[in-house]
Amino acid sequence: MAIYEYQCAECGAAFQARRAMKDADAPITCPDCGSFQAKRGLSRFFSATSGGGNSGVSTSGGGGCASCSGHSCASCGGH
Ligand SMILES: [Zn+2]
Repeated sequence: MAIYEYQCAECGAAFQARRAMKDADAPITCPDCGSFQAKRGLSRFFSATSGGGNSGVSTSGGGGCASCSGHSCASCGGH
């Protein structure tokens, strides 16, 4: 099961519904107006990493950290 976002084409209400993946695009009723015109919207989940600009990425640009060229020393933390 996953949570999907929908927006009603009739009244514009946005709502979320928890559905099986196979039902994600199946028709769903708007809880506000009862219309069947709700369409699945863009999912927002896990999008918080975009635009944060504060993820602690090193400036060396090569992966790895300053003290190694691989990704395996203690300060790399395994990324
Ligand atoms: Zn509606």
